[in-house]
Amino acid sequence: MKNKQLKKIYKIPFLDLRVRDRDERQALVGAFRKILDHGRILLGPEVAVFEKKIAGITGRKYAVGVNSGTDALFLALKCAGVGAGDEVITTSLSWIATANAIALTGATPVFADIGSDLNIDPAGIVRMISKKTKAIVPVHYTGKVCRMDEIMKIARKHRLIVVEDAAQSFGATYKGKMSGSFGDLACFSMNPMKVLAALGEAGAVLTDDASYRDRLVALRYNGTVNKETCVATSLNGRIDTIQAAMLTIRLRTYKGILRKREQLAGYYTRQLQDISGVIALPQESENSRDGHYTYTVRVKDRPGLMAYLEKKGIETKIQHPILMPDQPVYRTCPRDTLGTARQAVSEILCLPASEKTTLSQAAIVARAIRNFYA
Ligand SMILES: *Cc1c(COP(=O)(O)O)cnc(C)c1O
Repeated sequence: MKNKQLKKIYKIPFLDLRVRDRDERQALVGAFRKILDHGRILLGPEVAVFEKKIAGITGRKYAVGVNSGTDALFLALKCAGVGAGDEVITTSLSWIATANAIALTGATPVFADIGSDLNIDPAGIVRMISKKTKAIVPVHYTGKVCRMDEIMKIARKHRLIVVEDAAQSFGATYKGKMSGSFGDLACFSMNPMKVLAALGEAGAVLTDDASYRDRLVALRYNGTVNKETCVATSLNGRIDTIQAAMLTIRLRTYKGILRKREQLAGYYTRQLQDISGVIALPQESENSRDGHYTYTVRVKDRPGLMAYLEKKGIETKIQHPILMPDQPVYRTCPRDTLGTARQAVSEILCLPASEKTTLSQAAIVARAIRNFYA
């Protein structure tokens, strides 16, 4: 018997990473050709161009391009001096990269509960502060920025460093300020699933502090200054010139992508708000703009609904099904009561809601959800 695992083809996929727009293809291929011509494959001139652009958009003085969002978090924490003996407070609901980056510095991740917006609860941060606390890593989950005014106030009061995990929230705002502009350092991921997507792995760290910037430049290349003198233990985490070039092109169109995702989210919310099995929809907050990385709803009988949608060719995902403190590797780390996080993690479901999802596809998804609960 053949045991070949074929990738299921969905009528309505969660994401479609093909590049079919002709103008975009042409621009990407053109940028690639330029790099083939000049041959400066490692930290070529395209890297500085990209760093300047993304810093400008985010309202930061400096950006340092790195290999991935995970690297961005790890290097930002190292840069801020986080290490063995320190505790770092973060959320319970995130992609595991957040906790791994903290733990790999030698520090202990400490997990706070979330609020109804699925983001870290500022009161949970306060509950988890100890003498060992050195930093806070708020994650702007689903693309919605955390309550950063409250979090920054707590951090200033207790002299804690803030490293934003803005991997999911490029382009989002909170009370008029860009995601990635709040913390001492902020981290983006530009992996192909993210709203601002490279054609491979990529990330960036942003800061306004020139000494942080210099340290990050050393840390991303084996801790070296001028490529030879090693001043810190580190690994190789440079961004590829090719990815920086691709990202500079994608920065031309990210606003349109955000608008499309916003429109789709608005449509879903109007269609789903009166369905009894739908417990909660993404919340809008005043004077803030969601980055719409995922459209995450909370539902009753999630396994039943997922199977029903799957049968109709609609792909959904649970981001993420296991709370970070419940991962086998983090079972012994300090944690908050986690009442809200535990409830949420059993109910969350992400619907297809990328810029490539059409309104008519969203209509099919919404109708199928309505029929399931009818
Ligand atoms: C994607 C993601 C990361 C990691 O980024 P990579 O580029 O995949 O390494 C970290 N944190 C969060 C919240 C993410 O969504």
